[in-house]
Amino acid sequence: MNHPVLIIDKAKLRHNAEVVLKMCREANIEVCAVTKAFCAHPEIAETLIEAGINCLADSRIQNLKKLRRLPITKMLLRIPMLSEVEEVVRYAQISLNSELKTVEALSAAALKTGKKHGIIIMIELGDLREGILPGEAVEFAGKVLGLPGVQLLGVGVNLNCHGGIIPDRKNLGQLVSVAGEIEAEYGIRLQTISGGNSGSFYLVRDHQMPPGINQLRLGEVILLGRETSFQQKIDGLYTDVFTFQAEIVELKEKPSVPYGEMGRDSFGLRPGFQDKGVIKRAIAACGKQDILWNQLTPHQQGIDLIGASSDHLLLDVTHAGRDYTVGDTVDFSLSYGALLAAFTSEYVYKYCI
Ligand SMILES: *Cc1c(COP(=O)(O)O)cnc(C)c1O
Repeated sequence: MNHPVLIIDKAKLRHNAEVVLKMCREANIEVCAVTKAFCAHPEIAETLIEAGINCLADSRIQNLKKLRRLPITKMLLRIPMLSEVEEVVRYAQISLNSELKTVEALSAAALKTGKKHGIIIMIELGDLREGILPGEAVEFAGKVLGLPGVQLLGVGVNLNCHGGIIPDRKNLGQLVSVAGEIEAEYGIRLQTISGGNSGSFYLVRDHQMPPGINQLRLGEVILLGRETSFQQKIDGLYTDVFTFQAEIVELKEKPSVPYGEMGRDSFGLRPGFQDKGVIKRAIAACGKQDILWNQLTPHQQGIDLIGASSDHLLLDVTHAGRDYTVGDTVDFSLSYGALLAAFTSEYVYKYCI
């Protein structure tokens, strides 16, 4: 097998998606599965669809374009750029929005295609990333309702991101109230109240989701088997859908502290080292261009990550529970960020089993 490689266990992924879907269905919540962490790799997306997912969501239009042949609903997660509205209406049926100027441009672009584009208005509820203030929602919704090329589907929120704010019954309850105000003002029924990402999943698990929330946009919990708010593993889900594997290209006993006059490392930083005497150092052929090296966890007990440059990962294998030789591979599990980086690197092979 070529290395470095990201190995994807499709059966485990499918299981995770099925369990998450079932838990959400019991709470009357629709799941939009988020594909950005795996760059919308089509084979992985198809596995999610086989599990019963019927909405895929991504931040990048290039990724949604890869999914264009799949006969399911696609949602753009990042607030659209004015420069991409034509592609947005072509490759996504729904987008999350907070700027009227952009919704107007989406409406104009959609009119040309003859198909209405669905709009979810994002509401700011504490995390301070995207969204309009709750007090402005009724007026904003009225303007969206007046645009002929778009359909107002509902409201949504994103938490756990910039501010690390945890979704709870209070802020998600507020989202439901905002939806209620819009419905009352215009005498309409909103079909979607989108209550966030994997950070909101603990409320589903604990049967605490405020009534009215009827959609979640979920990546991490399906992919890594973990919710984001408290970093807890979800019972019944696999946490090892993905394995990163790198190959050892050098293995030698050398000191643990560099010698000579010390300047900066390859990334312009001043490195610091702990003296552990002579250690068994392995170089694995991957680096910062491929992965978030310090968010990898070796499967083998006793391996320490020493450092990385753009294309070398240095490992202390002195106390590893097995003897390595050149050509051996080392397996790692990945954080969400490391997964994102590995999928994004074209130098990392992707292998589905
Ligand atoms: C990335 C993203 C998600 C999914 O986040 P996970 O933590 O992977 O569940 C949901 N909504 C928006 C707007 C996002 O950008």
